[in-house]
Amino acid sequence: MAQDGRSKIAYLLERLAQGVAAHDRENPGHHTWGIGMSHFDIERLGLEEGEQILPGIVLQADGGVTGAFRVLCDGDHNREQEEAEEEVLDAVADEARELEVVRPGGGRGDDERELPPPLRPPF
Ligand SMILES: [Zn+2]
Repeated sequence: MAQDGRSKIAYLLERLAQGVAAHDRENPGHHTWGIGMSHFDIERLGLEEGEQILPGIVLQADGGVTGAFRVLCDGDHNREQEEAEEEVLDAVADEARELEVVRPGGGRGDDERELPPPLRPPF
């Protein structure tokens, strides 16, 4: 069935969880409480500001650059980490946009050939 949206979000959540885990591993003294994204990214990914996107982690529009998410914590941040996460949102959002444009009627790209041919008069 049409589970493209689901798997896209599942992939995103996995990357967010990985980002949080990496951050917490490198900064064991920080308390992580949220994920920051630009409002534009939240919209294009179909997410909602303020939702609990991971257990104990709230999604927050932070006015930062688009295409990247930021681990929000009570500690000092390292810009290197932010840059490392930057491709993730673009990759997910581009994929989402492609799926929307390529198959506006829904369904998957690989059963194109199973569509019935247009009906024609028999001569
Ligand atoms: Zn931190």
